[in-house]
Amino acid sequence: DPGHGGPDPGAIGIGGIRETDVVLDVSKKVKDLLAEKGIKVRLTRNKEIDLDLPPRVSFANRTDADIFVSIHANASRGKRRDINGLETFYYSGWRGRLLAKKIQKQIIRVSPGSPDRGVRQGRYFVIRNTRMPAVLVEIGFLTGKLDARRLEKSIHRKRIAYAIAKGIIEYLSKAG
Ligand code: ZN
Repeated sequence: DPGHGGPDPGAIGIGGIRETDVVLDVSKKVKDLLAEKGIKVRLTRNKEIDLDLPPRVSFANRTDADIFVSIHANASRGKRRDINGLETFYYSGWRGRLLAKKIQKQIIRVSPGSPDRGVRQGRYFVIRNTRMPAVLVEIGFLTGKLDARRLEKSIHRKRIAYAIAKGIIEYLSKAG
C-alpha cells in the first residue's frame, strides 16, 4: 500500500521531495522483487490517484491477502533537518509484530547512521482495520537532511525496497 497519492502528496521534504512519489517507487520495486520470488503482490495503487483509506482496507480484506504492508515516509514537526530515522508500526497480534520486526531490521541495515526508531504499536486506520497481519513502514524523514538526501536517490530506494522484500520473505518463511 503506497501511502497517499493524487491530490494528497503526503509529506513534502527538503527540496520539495514528495512522499507520494517516493513511496510509490519503493512499493513498485518491492512488488517486482517479491514477484521474482513467486509471491503474488497487489498494490492498492500503482499511479498518482486519489485513494482514501477505507478503500485501501476493503481492497486488502476483499483480496484475502496474507499480509498488508503500508509504505510511508515521515516529516517532522517544524521540518527539523536534524530529525532522521526509520520505524515500523503494527496494531496488534504477534504476527503483525513479527512482520514489523523483520522489516525494521532489514531497512535499518541499509540506512547506516539513520536512527532506529524501532517497532512500535500504532493506531493508523489501515493497520487497525485490515484483517490480516498489517504493518506501516516509515522509511525515513523527508524533512531530515540525512534521510532526504538518500531517499531522493533511486539506488537507495532500491535498497530500501530490497530490505522490505527481504523482511517480508523472512516473515513468510516463519509465520506463513
Ligand atoms: Zn504518509
